[in-house]
Amino acid sequence: MNEVKKPQKQMIYFYLVILLILFVFNFLILPVISQRQIQEVDYGTFMTMTEEGKIGSVQIQTNQILFTDKEEKTIYKTGLMNDPDLVQRLHSANVKFTSEIQTETSPFVRILLSWILPIVIFYLLGTFLSRKMMDKAGGANSLMFGMGKSNAKVYVKSSDGIRFDDVAGEDEAKENLSEIVNYLHDPTKYREIGASMPKGILLIGPPGTGKTMLAKAVAGEANVPFFSMSGSEFVEMFVGMGASKVRDLFKQAKEKAPCIVFIDEIDAIGKKREGNMTGNDEREQTLNQLLTEMDGFEGNNGVIILAATNRPESLDPALTRPGRFDRLVPVELPDLKGREEILKVHAKKVRLAGDVDFKQIARMASGASGAELANIVNEAALRAVRENRTYATQRDLEESIEVVIAGYQKKNAILTDKEKWTVACHEIGHALVAARQTDTAPVQKITIIPRTSGALGYTMQVEQDNHYLMTKTELENQIATLTGGRAAEELMFSEISTGAANDIEKATKLARSMVARYGMSEDFDMVAMENVHNQYLGGDASLDCSEETQTKIDSQVVALVKKQHEKASAILRENREKLEELAQYLYKQETITGEEFMEILNR
Ligand code: ADP
Ligand code: ZN
Repeated sequence: MNEVKKPQKQMIYFYLVILLILFVFNFLILPVISQRQIQEVDYGTFMTMTEEGKIGSVQIQTNQILFTDKEEKTIYKTGLMNDPDLVQRLHSANVKFTSEIQTETSPFVRILLSWILPIVIFYLLGTFLSRKMMDKAGGANSLMFGMGKSNAKVYVKSSDGIRFDDVAGEDEAKENLSEIVNYLHDPTKYREIGASMPKGILLIGPPGTGKTMLAKAVAGEANVPFFSMSGSEFVEMFVGMGASKVRDLFKQAKEKAPCIVFIDEIDAIGKKREGNMTGNDEREQTLNQLLTEMDGFEGNNGVIILAATNRPESLDPALTRPGRFDRLVPVELPDLKGREEILKVHAKKVRLAGDVDFKQIARMASGASGAELANIVNEAALRAVRENRTYATQRDLEESIEVVIAGYQKKNAILTDKEKWTVACHEIGHALVAARQTDTAPVQKITIIPRTSGALGYTMQVEQDNHYLMTKTELENQIATLTGGRAAEELMFSEISTGAANDIEKATKLARSMVARYGMSEDFDMVAMENVHNQYLGGDASLDCSEETQTKIDSQVVALVKKQHEKASAILRENREKLEELAQYLYKQETITGEEFMEILNR
């Protein structure tokens, strides 16, 4: 919501700056610089110059004399003296008397200074600011003053020796792309049979899943040059620069064919062209140039264009038309096996203890992207160094998952005993509800050590195996588990706290999806009422239905959550003694494992 307001605010600043510059120019700078240089001399010099005939014209003012040299180039000034013979002498020296000596510069220069210069400055400022706004809106990086071609490092021509083996857990994508590799190895085989390669391949998936790596790996496997550029780099400060960069890029690529051209963040130039007034000429020109280039070459000239995006839904349909990016390759978040493989790939780079159980770590890191898994391994190594060890252990890895998920431990956050006790009961509430519902994943770890992310404690659940489908019961149980924290507070203190805000958000989102997206309520049957916008970036959804239906959805969501909340409360009431016992144990230990938890629970 920030982003919508900002441009307007900046426009106001922009006009203020214009006003300020106009003012400064016309009232402060102009009078000074448009004044011709006036040299002050003494009266004696004036007299000598008169005698030697070096004076062009003279103007006698009330308290000073202005005069010029013969060429009328320099203006001199001297004080007025009581000199009755002056006029006589000037006359005999053949000096012109003028009524006025032009002390100001020519009108041309004045117009230049007061009008043309400011206009040029405004133009530059305007494009500068609108670029800046665009950057804000499009997430482009700021290449503010890097203009056009002079910006030499545009095309990184190296694939860093990345091969398919370095990219783990994306088997489908790799299979899809290996056809391209085969083609680049032996294009004649394809040409003979008359098959042409797709010109463009679009890699679609959430951030950090290895799209860039895959593109590099294609180049690495085929051993061809790799040209890469980010979509945001195309959108330049001056209109027309982006288009010329595209032209340039393709010219270079054709010379080096066969080769791979990789355009990251293609959504920065390929966004849907909207009919709104902030339409961006620059981006449109760039996009058109890209389309022209793609239409212009035949499928068999050996230039393969790969592009990546994590917002496929915002792309201009012109881009995905046949003959352009007509092959879409999904690069999804890794599943359990994929996560394990990615961990192993990155673990090769660090020294690990023998006890490391990659499968366990992969389980704990459910939902993590390849980039996050790489980060987890690195964090573990850093932790080992901090503790003066020469290798990283399972504990390091587990702790670094928590760091990546929840932030660092906040050592100096001081909770009062009362708060700590509340948090302990809250967390045990979650865990107990989870454990008592057979279909929910058992807890892995419970902790009440505050984290830098603001979490005061949390219950880490793990999925035992891959989950591709979620049943209605599982979703309901998840909601019940989420309400378990609040339910425990109610039961123990007959009072509730703000600690459940995050739980409430998650439970609501789940319940809403059940009703509006998964068709899991009786009233709506299999009718979708929700549109998901950024499926790879948080999955914002908007409702697509009448107001009346919206009201119904809302009441169903409330009913659904309420029912699960009541279920959680019932479970906790039945297990009240265990709740207290476990909470006390957690209060003392601050961190307990899933095994400890189950041990006490089953005692
Ligand atoms: P994307 O382009 O999809 O945003 P990148 O290819 O830039 O993601 O990945 C960023 C980093 O994350 C890589 O340099 C690599 O270290 C790690 N990474 C991501 N996905 C994988 C994967 N499938 N296998 C191994 N490492 C990965
Ligand atoms: Zn909670």
